[in-house]
Amino acid sequence: MNSYIEKAENSLLHTYNRFQVVFEHGQGVYLYDTEGKKYLDFCGGIAVNALGYGDQELEKELIDALSDQIRKVTHTSNYFYNIPAAEAAQKLTKAAGLERVFFTNSGAEAVEGLIKTARKYAYLKDGNTDHEIIAMEHSFHGRTMGALSVTGNPAYRKAFEPMIGNVKFATMNDYESVEALVNEKTCAILLETVQGEGGIFPAEEGFLKKLRKLCDEKDILLIFDEIQCGMGRTGELFAWQRFGVKPDAMATAKALGCGIPVGAFLMSQKLADASLVAGDHGTTYGGNPLACRAVSTVLDLYEKRDILSHVKKVGAYLEEKLDGLVAKYDHIIERRGIGLMQGLEFDCEVKPVLQKALDNGLVLINAGAKIIRFVPPLVITEEDIDEMIRILEDALS
Ligand SMILES: *Cc1c(COP(=O)(O)O)cnc(C)c1O
Repeated sequence: MNSYIEKAENSLLHTYNRFQVVFEHGQGVYLYDTEGKKYLDFCGGIAVNALGYGDQELEKELIDALSDQIRKVTHTSNYFYNIPAAEAAQKLTKAAGLERVFFTNSGAEAVEGLIKTARKYAYLKDGNTDHEIIAMEHSFHGRTMGALSVTGNPAYRKAFEPMIGNVKFATMNDYESVEALVNEKTCAILLETVQGEGGIFPAEEGFLKKLRKLCDEKDILLIFDEIQCGMGRTGELFAWQRFGVKPDAMATAKALGCGIPVGAFLMSQKLADASLVAGDHGTTYGGNPLACRAVSTVLDLYEKRDILSHVKKVGAYLEEKLDGLVAKYDHIIERRGIGLMQGLEFDCEVKPVLQKALDNGLVLINAGAKIIRFVPPLVITEEDIDEMIRILEDALS
């Protein structure tokens, strides 16, 4: 294992402080390192591997579909139509209740597309190019320049200034803080329905309803980033569906392809008719047959196995078990989250706990220095949760 780590460290750009482990393959909800050691996975590739790994019955259908697609064709370009993109687009727009979709290669790229959509929409209305976007503090929208510009973490932005400009930051769940930033130049309000990287902070229903009303009154676009909290993680396919507050546009990625890199941004027909037109936006790889075959098959499998009901059930069980830890350990301040997107906030740094858990065969990650994040495959069972709690408690003690 060390020779692989050495090779990687000698060549990869050092933008991550990685755990000292090399994962070689996965099976079910377990990952295996190059020494054959088994790890229960409560990271899921950061909320990506919703269906688990390897040759389990569920994932087998995805692997078979992808294998079939690789043999047929993986890429043709967006100058032509392809079957998987047609099917994925139809299924995803139907599931989201938003009529138009653009497929991207990543989450950040989906956010970029939404920023362009918002600016174009406002530009077509008044011919000006000075429009403003309101985003949230502690938000995370990706590492490319546009996505970084709307990310509410000054430390991520500082060295890369100037940002795209005309972005203001409000406080999540504080309606007055948003209202105070709105003016005639505001073109969009952008937020994660449940903040992920920033520390697992769900939006409150009342906050979202007020934002919807404000946006309707002032003709401002309400845009949700569902990249982490979407694709079933909260027990609804998209977290906003739980609150009954529909955005004008949204971004998805992470679990969308369950490991095949793919993202998307979606919007209403009304917005599509008044924003991007042919020539305004593009991508070489985005929406290719392989990525879209993944999306199409993942959506089929979610339905076939009723993943959403399963998440509601095991999510409630996870909440109960984590609440038990909050009651038991003085260093744990609170639990936050919905379904299988949970965080435990500590009064101290959690890195040593994560390391100890990894040593004992449990993969966990943080979301900020003091918060342990739980974003496991959506197919975990109550027994898997019991096992996770056992290993975590051992690490805590
Ligand atoms: C991960 C994430 C992104 C960025 O997605 P990438 O695929 O890493 O570019 C954007 N927004 C949210 C909420 C995320 O969790």
